[in-house]
Amino acid sequence: MRVDADDFARPCSCGREHHIDVREIVIESGAIGKLEKEMSDGDLKEYISPLLICDTNSYKATEELMEDIYDRCQVLILDAEGLEADERAVEIVENYMEEDIDLVLAVGAGTIHDLSRFVAHQYRIPFVSVPTAASSDGFTSTVADMTWNGVKKVFQASAPLFVFADTDIFAEAPARLTAAGVSDILGKYIALADWKIASILMNEYYCTEVVNLETKAIRTVKDNLKEIAAGEKDACEKLMYALILSGLAMQMTGNSRPASGAEHHMVHLWDMEVVNGHLNALHGEKVSAATMLVLLEYKKLADAIRRGTCRVHAFADGDRELLQETFGRKGILGALEKENTPELLDDVSIETLSGALPEILKIIDFLPAVTDMQEMMSIVGCISRVRDIGLPGKAIEESLRLAPYTRRRLSLLRLRKMLTY
Ligand SMILES: [Zn+2]
Ligand SMILES: [Zn+2]
Repeated sequence: MRVDADDFARPCSCGREHHIDVREIVIESGAIGKLEKEMSDGDLKEYISPLLICDTNSYKATEELMEDIYDRCQVLILDAEGLEADERAVEIVENYMEEDIDLVLAVGAGTIHDLSRFVAHQYRIPFVSVPTAASSDGFTSTVADMTWNGVKKVFQASAPLFVFADTDIFAEAPARLTAAGVSDILGKYIALADWKIASILMNEYYCTEVVNLETKAIRTVKDNLKEIAAGEKDACEKLMYALILSGLAMQMTGNSRPASGAEHHMVHLWDMEVVNGHLNALHGEKVSAATMLVLLEYKKLADAIRRGTCRVHAFADGDRELLQETFGRKGILGALEKENTPELLDDVSIETLSGALPEILKIIDFLPAVTDMQEMMSIVGCISRVRDIGLPGKAIEESLRLAPYTRRRLSLLRLRKMLTY
């Protein structure tokens, strides 16, 4: 399957001309052969000193199939144990960035891609993506999710020049990674609802074409859950396609808005470890656990709106003490305050929010019911309970309160601070 990036880069009904940097995306059995060909006598031939970045797991999964490619690159194998996209790992990669390196090949899953795109962007050189698992939607995005001095930060970075997703590699990845990819996509229900609500309340930029693309990604996964769970190659290819579409949606807007709402903000919070210790879980696993928490809360809110018991008031700023206790204790309150100044909710008036409640209700009703979401997740073996990612139950309430502060972006979870129900 080839995804023609040109299909998405054209003048759009939203008034923008969307920009796509990826030249070509190949998702099929034998994609590695195509990469070899590009390197031997195609568009990648001009790069004479490529650095291949992988980790101990992705190396093991690809060393045979990609033997020729390993032979022609300088290779950096990072220890997969405890590997994070943080300043420590960046330093290791930078030590390998000799002057003549002119191309980065990312061979791995999300973390390897975040590191590669970040470093490639710093050094102003292109990078090529070889996803080894359908585990997250970061392969084609232009932002790198990094943890910097303990704070989760989203950096502008490079999109890959090419993506070569070989089904013979990613369909063989552990089922846990594939389930995490499904989870990352199911989280988009919340992300799209939050985006729509922000466009209504704050007139935030919104593009229906991008929304359609993200919706297509959700539908592709939803329609193939059983087959994905069975590990059918065709279905795994569709999951990879959905993840790539989601990444392209982010490229089209130039930020993560279409793919990241309150559920991802909560994951950012957990990654900062201010209400919890280190969670031994994959990104997607945290996304599905957060998606369930946020969905439950949104449905509760919908019921209150329907019953007429949802009251709108001014933002009360009642989280000062908790912020001090959590972010303050970790010494990152300053960075958080910077992110949240001026307060986003100052731009939402009581009248506007009151007037928008019926529309917000419609948007929440459009989300899957909690039981349906649980059912979708269980088919593939996604994690849906916070205790399965190691989060203590007492951290749930704090997570709901603090998650919105990790990102200066309006979500319904943030609007809760103006609502009593
Ligand atoms: Zn558009
Ligand atoms: Zn994600």
